[in-house]
Amino acid sequence: MTKQNHPTITILGTGYVGLTTAALFAAAGLKTYVVDPNESRLQAVREGRSFFYEEGLDPLVAHGVKSKLLVPTSSYAESVPHSDIVISAVGTPDNPDGSSNLTYLFAAAEEATKHLKPTAVYVQKSTVPVGTGGRITKLFAEKGTGAAYVSNPEFLRESTALRDSLWFDRIVVGGPDEEALDRVTAVYRAVHEARDEIAGIAGLDAPDTLPAERYMATSLESAELIKVTANAFLALKISFANSIAKFADQTGADITEVMDGIGSDTRIGRSFLNAGRGYGGGCFPKDVSGLISSASKHGAEQPIMIAASEVNESMPGYIVNKAKKALGELPGKKIAVLGLAFKSGTSDARRSPGVKLANIMSHDGATVTAYDPEANSEAEEELRKGVTVCKSVSETVKDVDAVFLATDWAEFLSYDLEKLAKEMKGKFFIDCMNAFSIVRVEDAGLRYMGVGRASKN
Ligand code: NAD
Repeated sequence: MTKQNHPTITILGTGYVGLTTAALFAAAGLKTYVVDPNESRLQAVREGRSFFYEEGLDPLVAHGVKSKLLVPTSSYAESVPHSDIVISAVGTPDNPDGSSNLTYLFAAAEEATKHLKPTAVYVQKSTVPVGTGGRITKLFAEKGTGAAYVSNPEFLRESTALRDSLWFDRIVVGGPDEEALDRVTAVYRAVHEARDEIAGIAGLDAPDTLPAERYMATSLESAELIKVTANAFLALKISFANSIAKFADQTGADITEVMDGIGSDTRIGRSFLNAGRGYGGGCFPKDVSGLISSASKHGAEQPIMIAASEVNESMPGYIVNKAKKALGELPGKKIAVLGLAFKSGTSDARRSPGVKLANIMSHDGATVTAYDPEANSEAEEELRKGVTVCKSVSETVKDVDAVFLATDWAEFLSYDLEKLAKEMKGKFFIDCMNAFSIVRVEDAGLRYMGVGRASKN
């Protein structure tokens, strides 16, 4: 234990989740090791910064390293034996068949068994198929590891990760050992108590309305299923809006008006009902496919989620085809894609719809330029060779026939549209996020096209 009887913590995995969580814990006064085999991620932490862009994270990482409470290492032997709580936050990507790839997760658990104190709590923060905790508990028993096992799914969203953790809706802990659940909950209470100070270091203002801030203890299986089900439901809402948007496109209805109309019913709610280019990122696509796969193994098929996934996959191609009806075939056309991060506020370009749009149109013969304020370098390896990555909006849109707005960064939303119209050659503005007012775009002399929204002219 460190001062104030705080537990010492190890987080396995210095990724989006692991590093954010570790920086928070260290700022709350808890000694926290972050372990990763990836040397460049560790080196960034040693230099007092994050390897990815997330609002407020760099100052928190710098503070943690300076105070020596945040300790990056590649060694389990240096960290796990000294830790009261060991948190697994390694990646759980999907296999080609859509099932969850648990290779990293079991490798981490296996390695941890060699070093865990018998009194330690092993916490699973990675998103896993229900039943995984049971398998690890069995592994611990086989290896004679005395550590308790707790599922503690993570709900932070990239781009608002620190806010989501400081002002949280719920902390879920699941498992059979009540004392272990209490020990994990106590860590979050320490963060909660220190949150004004932490927010000060990160430069974040408290929200006007505080969220529910519930602490929930559940069974192991429920905790595991809560996480994937939460993401599946949000994905379902997005695909529902997109499905209706395709219908709106055939009828002259405006999907934003339709969703405002239904979303004002409190039983439905307005959030996550924005039609557009669909969801992407490192979580929703793989969590949906993981749920479909694991439910199927239990004989509980999920046709709703299969349909949601298919609708989502169809959206970039749907938008390109819709644009082609006005723009004509793509060979010989110059196209700009604004936005390569999977959403604004992050540098993460995993499964990014903006990248998909750029790749589809480059494949179909267009000359494509693309730009993102934060995600250019993370996107580069996902982009086809023919796509030119630019350093500014002006450079990207110069002399193009059409602009596709794929991510709603403030830099794009506040861009002078009259200037944009002059910089382009053609006048097509394809708003793949329905983020703009149609009138504003058309008053600038551009031809508007949204998803489920008709031009006013
Ligand atoms: P990530 O890929 O950014 O990071 C995972 C890290 O684990 C990598 O740096 C990798 O090198 C490291 N790693 C792999 N094997 C290891 C081992 N044996 N020991 C130590 N480190 C190891 O992943 P992420 O986005 O941080 O996601 C981590 C988990 O959290 C996933 O299960 C994900 O589904 C879940 N999750 C992610 C988010 C999000 O927004 N990114 C939100 C909620 C939950």
